[in-house]
Parts: sequence; structure tokens; C-alpha cells
Amino acid sequence: MTACAYRSLEPVLHLRVADLRARMPGLRGRLIANQPLAELTWFRVGGPAQVLFSPQDEEDLAMLLAGLPGAVPVTVIGLGSNLIVRDGGVAGVVIRLGRGFGDIAVEDGHRVRAGTAVPDVKVARAAQEAAIAGLSFLRGIPGSIGGALRMNGGAYGGETKDVLVAARGVDRAGRIIGFTNADMHYTYRHCGAPDGVIFTEAVFQGRPGDPAVIATEMDKITESREATQPIKSRTGGSTFKNPAGHKAWQLIDAAGCRGLQIGGAQVSPMHCNFLINLGGATAADIETLGETVRARVKETSGVDLDWEIKRIGVAA
Ligand SMILES: Cc1cc2nc3c(=O)[nH]c(=O)nc-3n(C[C@H](O)[C@H](O)[C@H](O)COP(=O)(O)OP(=O)(O)OC[C@H]3O[C@@H](n4cnc5c(N)ncnc54)[C@H](O)[C@@H]3O)c2cc1C
Repeated sequence: MTACAYRSLEPVLHLRVADLRARMPGLRGRLIANQPLAELTWFRVGGPAQVLFSPQDEEDLAMLLAGLPGAVPVTVIGLGSNLIVRDGGVAGVVIRLGRGFGDIAVEDGHRVRAGTAVPDVKVARAAQEAAIAGLSFLRGIPGSIGGALRMNGGAYGGETKDVLVAARGVDRAGRIIGFTNADMHYTYRHCGAPDGVIFTEAVFQGRPGDPAVIATEMDKITESREATQPIKSRTGGSTFKNPAGHKAWQLIDAAGCRGLQIGGAQVSPMHCNFLINLGGATAADIETLGETVRARVKETSGVDLDWEIKRIGVAA
């Protein structure tokens, strides 16, 4: 299936790792052709990246972006907890940040600086250990800081936009750019920073707190998630944004979609705004199930649901 998926990408773009290396001899990160992406996502579905690049650091990332022909599409992924990779894979270069973007530092003024490959939960823990309150909501989001910046991730009463002081990123032309909170133009689960920007670092503002109280708060978040979300399943979290004045899960439930199944994909019986891969789902099963839910909700309540989950790549 993987080989077939790659063939479907070839006509889209002729892109060879050897050519990229020759074009940018100073590049230090790993370039891998035809890298399966399913294993890098929570849903565990989808085809390969035509080329996967794991930069060593911000400078390496900037070099790749500056040297890559403008026509080559670039897609960044984090921990894949909000992603459906379509079965035909992703054309162009997919970028996944690793160790070089994994530092966390506690700074004066109850601030935490973190690389964007750092899992959100680690920032929550570092803040708790340093007696910094206000960041414990990050315990509830199973993504990376890069994903939190792009999605304006939020949970349990906190949202990225409430705590972000500044971010750094690299644009498609390879320029390193600083962003203030206002530059991010945040709204609910949306960031208005230019689409091509790959975030590399963030600084968060907390406030003085008691480590024991913060730890209890984080434990409560853990318990609540375990009780209400299928967090041990192959899922992408909330599938649709809550429309103004509504809860997406209630509209889905009212449309009779709880437990609905297409192929190996199912609307979670536990939390019906979550779709799950029962084991043998394809990305097409999951996306078709999502579109079926949208159509049924429109029919029963007249409300258009918007996808919160990002869908990338091409169908097989
Ligand atoms: C069980 C479960 C529970 C969840 N609960 C919540 C919740 O309570 N609240 C919530 O907000 N979300 C929740 N989510 C969704 C998801 O965890 C968040 O959206 C998270 O912020 C995504 O981060 P990620 O690293 O996994 O990003 P990915 O899923 O890999 O990517 C998501 C988007 O972010 C972009 N992106 C990733 N890294 C970068 C970067 N460095 N620079 C620029 N763009 C980048 C990608 O291009 C993509 O558009 C849940 C998901 C699961 C599976």
C-alpha cells in the first residue's frame, strides 16, 4: 500500500533526496524519502511523506526553507494528535521537529521558555515544579508546543492565547521571525499568523503558585480526561469545533451519530465528538465518517460543523 501511495505522489512532484542534498550541502538534518507517516500520528492511518526532514536546529530549518524551490509544498507536523494524514500521503517536504527543539527553561518573572517539539505536558510539569501556576491546562493536551501555538490549544479553562508572551518561527522563505501574542491573531482554535510559518520556540507567562496545589489541579485534569475521553484509543481529539452557542458533541448525539461506524472508523460511544480508529481504518474511512456526521448534523439541526482536526495529503 505504501509503494502504491508513493507512486500516486510522483506525478505531483519530482523531488529526490540526493538532489536536495546536492542543492544544500550544508544541511545537517535527516532527509528521508517515502517515510510512512501513520506511525507518527495518533490515528495511525495515512500514507507516506514524499520526503521527511528532521532539522537539527532552527538554523538548519531556515537553510532548508530558504534553499527549497518555492514550488515545493512544505507541511509541518507535531505529535500528530490533531491530524488525519490521507491515504495517498503528503507531497513535498514534511517537517518534524525533534531534539534540537526540545529545550525547556524556567525564567525570571514566572515564565517558561520551551522549544516547539516539547510535549505540552512537560511544560505543565516544569511549571509545577518551579511553583508557577497558570500553565496546568497544558496537562490536558497531548500535543507539542508547536501544535498548541498553531491550534491555540486549550483545555480546562485555559488557552494558549491566555499565556503566550512571544513565539519565534521560520517562514517559507527561511526568515526567522518573532511574534508577540497580538501578532498571533488568536481566536478559538485558530492562529492568524501566516500559514507557512513553522514555530520554533515559545515563552509562556505564569504566576506564583503552590506546587502542591498545582499538582492536585493536574491530577484532577488527568482523572477527568480518563473518565470522559477515549484517550487510550487511536483518535484525533475533538473532531469539530464547538459552533457558537452549541456543543459539537450534543449536536452529533442529537443527530443519532454516537457509535456510528464506517469501515474501521467509529464515532466514539464515550465522547461523540471524537472519532476512533477501531484498528483497521483507513484515513478515507475516518474522513468519510466525519463528513457523514457533518451532513447528519446539518440535516437535523441546520448547523454547519467545522473540522478542528487538520487533514493533510491526498487520497489514495
Ligand atoms: C485524546 C486527545 C485529546 C485532546 N484534547 C485536546 C484538548 O483538550 N484541547 C485541545 O486544544 N486539543 C486537544 N486535542 C488535539 C491536539 O492534541 C491539539 O490540537 C494539539 O495542540 C496538537 O498538537 P500536535 O503537536 O499533535 O500537532 P499536530 O496534530 O501534529 O498538528 C496540528 C496542527 O499544528 C501544526 N503544527 C504542528 N507543529 C507546528 C509548528 N512547530 N509550527 C507551526 N505549526 C505546527 C500542524 O501543521 C497542524 O496544522 C486532543 C487530541 C487527542 C488525541
